[in-house]
Amino acid sequence: MPRLEVIKNPNPHLRRIATPVALDSITSKTNQKLVDDMILTMKKENGVGLAAVQVDVNQRLIVVLDDDEPLAIFNPELSNLSFAKVMSDEGCLSVPKVWGYVKRHRSLTWKGFDREGKAIGGRAAGFFAIVLQHEVDHLNGILFIDKVESYLETSNSQI
Ligand code: ZN
Repeated sequence: MPRLEVIKNPNPHLRRIATPVALDSITSKTNQKLVDDMILTMKKENGVGLAAVQVDVNQRLIVVLDDDEPLAIFNPELSNLSFAKVMSDEGCLSVPKVWGYVKRHRSLTWKGFDREGKAIGGRAAGFFAIVLQHEVDHLNGILFIDKVESYLETSNSQI
């Protein structure tokens, strides 16, 4: 499993809208290897989430840590975003050495497909909800620096 190269801002590929993944291709060798390589890359880079666009694959696929367990979500969708927001301190593997506060919805409903092509989803709150918002933003060409309210000297959070 090779570690993938994470592309960095201002690479214009980070600004593309990622394409939905055909459900019958989720279990293909190519996509399974991509999931394995993305999980390895996320761990090696000490991230808690990684979107396929960050490794220059223009597909709607993210990997996230959910209670320290890696989870791949194909075609993730967020809905029922809470009115309540929280301030989240964030960094990003594609925006090195920049950290800042971003306003995020406190809770949301998410859905998508796991690496076996099974429909998954649920209600999320707290840090997991923040990570999902950060990663789905990547699939829509949005970086956290577009939304940052104030910058920080440093943070532990690399999403
Ligand atoms: Zn990021």
